[in-house]
Amino acid sequence: MIDTLRMNATSNTSIDYQATAEFADWMDQNDPLRIYRERFHLPRQANGEPQIYLCGNSLGLQPKTVRSYLDQELRDWATLGVEGHFEAENPWMPYHEFLTEAMAKVVGAKPSEVVVMNTLTVNLHLMMVSFYRPEAQRFKILIESDAFPSDRYAVESQIKWHGYDPEEALVELRPREGEQLIRIEDIEALLAEQGQEIALIMLGGVNYYTGQYFDAKRIAALGHRHGCLVGFDYAHGAGNIDLRLHDSQLDFAVWCTYKYLNAGPGSMAGCFVHERHAQDFDRPRFAGWWGHDKETRFNMRFGFTPLSGAEGWQLSNPPILSLAAIRASLDIFTEVGMPALMHKSRLLTGYLEFLVDELRDERVRIITPRDPAERGCQLSIQLRRTNRRLFDELSRRGVIADWREPDVIRVAPVPLYNSFREVYDFVAILQSILDLHQYDEQQ
Ligand SMILES: *Cc1c(COP(=O)(O)O)cnc(C)c1O
Repeated sequence: MIDTLRMNATSNTSIDYQATAEFADWMDQNDPLRIYRERFHLPRQANGEPQIYLCGNSLGLQPKTVRSYLDQELRDWATLGVEGHFEAENPWMPYHEFLTEAMAKVVGAKPSEVVVMNTLTVNLHLMMVSFYRPEAQRFKILIESDAFPSDRYAVESQIKWHGYDPEEALVELRPREGEQLIRIEDIEALLAEQGQEIALIMLGGVNYYTGQYFDAKRIAALGHRHGCLVGFDYAHGAGNIDLRLHDSQLDFAVWCTYKYLNAGPGSMAGCFVHERHAQDFDRPRFAGWWGHDKETRFNMRFGFTPLSGAEGWQLSNPPILSLAAIRASLDIFTEVGMPALMHKSRLLTGYLEFLVDELRDERVRIITPRDPAERGCQLSIQLRRTNRRLFDELSRRGVIADWREPDVIRVAPVPLYNSFREVYDFVAILQSILDLHQYDEQQ
């Protein structure tokens, strides 16, 4: 397999990838971000070797600094009690504000447009409370046909809660027959046809299954032209793609922090509200004291005075321990910066793509877009005429990936902690399994 191939002309790099372990090691030695791998706890196999962990799209690994960030808050709680709200090293009262600037940078927003609060599906609901306002002539929501189940449940329940029927009000964007990806021209055609009935366009900014990245700016402009509001779920985008939420003109966006943002299972989520809605105080919203004007929050008077910007959608005082873990992780993102991260991400995922293509096995097909501008680090690989036993064998050999019935594995080499050598080893293991086992439909 000692081949030197020129990368596809659509790629923006000029690396001549090689399918050898030596080349992969050489890439690692020349990777300016290689030191960051040591900043994470790497889950281990039974033999003590690190797993080949390609599942950061599902749960990011733990930064080693998380523990000391949590310890700080535990200590302050132990020694200060309630005084910690003001006297803690990092006072709890304004604690969420300590995350805002770094989070805004990660998603390309202004600080006033971003807040960390609640969890993802909760934020999606809160955003729909404000930005899905169905009326007799305009009551539909447009989603992807293979939207993430939680998003679908949230959208359906909002439709029903307003007294409409999802059969009628839920419009699905479907790939063409025999295709896996959604074409922008099909979104255009759909909006031309029923845009005036669509109240909200709600898409996964990076589709969780195919890894397809949607051009938010173009879709927001398109939606707005037809009078729709537009919100994206960036569960698979935040920390993975150099998002430009402010410039995109999306009305709102939501994302979680436990996938590419490495903040721990069930950690709190992000929310973006475009600044043109910052003072939209007449727009209905669900309210709680943390969204109330900070100056008078404790007066407990009647009458809700929302904060301007995204902060005005907060409900509760936030769990500080979760915020502390997010802060530990965001500090790494601030240090590295999204441009450097994206640069490595493209090289790393490009290498994975190159190696998978080099298998030259007609059972193996990448369904994620080939253009690096239309994807993040995840590749979804279809393994036709195989079955789950292949995936189980991968797991047995130390590869942590994600299997989706009937025949797709999702692998996400994460630039902060995955190496070129791991990508090489993963494909070598995949090849040896494909060679050894003649999977067929009878099995
Ligand atoms: C991961 C993910 C979720 C999970 O929602 P939670 O509220 O965090 O449990 C929802 N939507 C999408 C698109 C996801 O990828």
